[in-house]
Amino acid sequence: MTAFPELEETIQTDVLIIGGGIEGILCAWELKRRGIEYVLVEADRICSGVTAGTTAKITAQHGLLYEKLLRRFGTEGAREYYRANQNAVGWYRELCAKIDCGFQNEDSFLYCCEDPEALDLEMDALERIGAKAEWLGSLPLPFPVTGAIRFPEQGRFHPLKFLGTISEELRIYEHTKVISFDGKRYLTAKGSITAQRTVVATHFPMWNKMGLFPLKLYQDRSYVLGLKNAGRIPGMYLGMDAERLSFRMEDELLLLGGGSGRTGSKGGGWETLERSARAYFPKADIRYRWAAQDCMSLDGMPYVGQYSPKHAGLYVVTGFNKWGMTGSMTAAMVLGDLLQGKENGLAELYAPSRRILRPQLGVNLASSVWNLLRPAQPRCPHLGCALKWNSQEKSWDCPCHGSRFSGEGKLLDNPATGDLKPGNTSLDKRI
Ligand SMILES: Cc1cc2nc3c(=O)[nH]c(=O)nc-3n(C[C@H](O)[C@H](O)[C@H](O)COP(=O)(O)OP(=O)(O)OC[C@H]3O[C@@H](n4cnc5c(N)ncnc54)[C@H](O)[C@@H]3O)c2cc1C
Repeated sequence: MTAFPELEETIQTDVLIIGGGIEGILCAWELKRRGIEYVLVEADRICSGVTAGTTAKITAQHGLLYEKLLRRFGTEGAREYYRANQNAVGWYRELCAKIDCGFQNEDSFLYCCEDPEALDLEMDALERIGAKAEWLGSLPLPFPVTGAIRFPEQGRFHPLKFLGTISEELRIYEHTKVISFDGKRYLTAKGSITAQRTVVATHFPMWNKMGLFPLKLYQDRSYVLGLKNAGRIPGMYLGMDAERLSFRMEDELLLLGGGSGRTGSKGGGWETLERSARAYFPKADIRYRWAAQDCMSLDGMPYVGQYSPKHAGLYVVTGFNKWGMTGSMTAAMVLGDLLQGKENGLAELYAPSRRILRPQLGVNLASSVWNLLRPAQPRCPHLGCALKWNSQEKSWDCPCHGSRFSGEGKLLDNPATGDLKPGNTSLDKRI
C-alpha cells in the first residue's frame, strides 16, 4: 500500500473524511470524481481496520435480508436496496477491469441444511421485488443441503489491492487520528483541520451523545480460516443454519468463515470452525486464521447521512451488517448526492434518524444495562461496561459496543479511544 504523510500543519477543506477503511476511501474517491474538495485522515495506516479482515464477497445477496426489508420498508424499499447493491456489483466489475485486484465473477449462494422454511420465504420476497435469483436443490459442497438460492454474476476481489490502487490518487494523511473538535477545528496530534462538512467513517461512530449510536449499533465478530488442499469450490456460499458457514476461494486457498457471535458473548470462534474444517475437509491444512467484527444496525439497513438531526454538515456512515463491499459503494453515492444537495432514492432508507423501535433495540438496551450493573472488572473506558475475557483471542471484549483490548490492556478495536487503565485488579492478574 502507498504510504501517506502524517498531518503536521493546519489545513482547510470543504469535506473532511475521518477514517480510511473501505467506507472512507470510497467516499473520498467519489468526492474526487465529482470535483468536491476533500481530505481523508486515518488514525493508523489506511485499510488497517475491519477492511483488512473482510472476506470481500461483492454481492447484493445479504443473508436472509429481503424478507425482513419487505416487512420493514415495503416492496419499494426492499427493491430500492436490492437495485442499489446490484448496481454496486456492476460498478466494481467496471472499475476492477482496469485494476489488478483479482476480481472474479462468481455466483453467490445462500443455503440451508435443515428446515428450509426461512429460505422459502426469502425466495418469495426476492420474487416479489423482481430480483434475479434462482432456487436450487443441491450444491457442490461437502454436505447435502435442503435448499439454496443463487444470485448469478456477483463477484469477489482482493480488497486491499483494489483500495491500495484507487487511494494512490487521493488526498490522504495517515497516522493522523482526530482526537477532538474544539468547535472550529478538528485537532490531531501534530495538526488541525477546518472543514465546511465532515463525514465520520470510523467504523463505530466516534461521538456517543449525538445520534444515539451506542443504542443503534452492536458489533458482531466472525472468524475465518484459510485452508490449503481443501479442493476447489466454485462460487461463494453462506449457510443459514446454526453454523452459518461461509465459503469462497482465494487462489488455491479456501476461506472458511463462521463461529460468529456478538462481540463479548459466547460465539463458537475458531474452535467450532476448526471442527467444521476437520469434518468437511479432512485433508486440508489450516494455513491462516483471523477474526474481525462489523457494526450491526437495528433493522438491516446501514446508517448513512446526517449524524443527528441537530447537526447539519456532520455526516456518518456505518452499520453495514457484514455487507460493507456493496454497502460502502452505495453509501459513497448517497453521501456524494447529499453533499451536492441532490436527491437520492436511498437517502431516506439509510437516514440515521429513521425509526429505532425495533426488537434489536431491546436486546442492545438489555445488554448495556446488564453489563453496566455487573460488578466485574475490568471496565470499558468507552461507557463503563464490564468486559469479558475472550480465551481464544486472549483479549478483553466489551459485550455492549464491541471495544476490544489486549491482555495487557492495549486498545484493539473501537469505539473506545484509549487503553485500559492500569490498577484494575482483574487486568493486573491477567498480566
Ligand atoms: C469477518 C468479516 C467478513 C466480512 N466479509 C464481507 C464480505 O464478504 N462482503 C462484504 O460485503 N462485507 C463483508 N464484511 C463487512 C466489511 O468488511 C465491513 O463492513 C467493512 O470493511 C467496514 O469498513 P469500514 O471502513 O467501516 O471500517 P474500517 O476498515 O475499520 O475503517 C475505519 C477506519 O477508521 C479509522 N479511525 C477510527 N477512528 C479514527 C479517528 N478518530 N481518526 C482517524 N481515523 C480513525 C480506523 O483506524 C480505521 O482504519 C465482513 C466483515 C467481517 C468482520
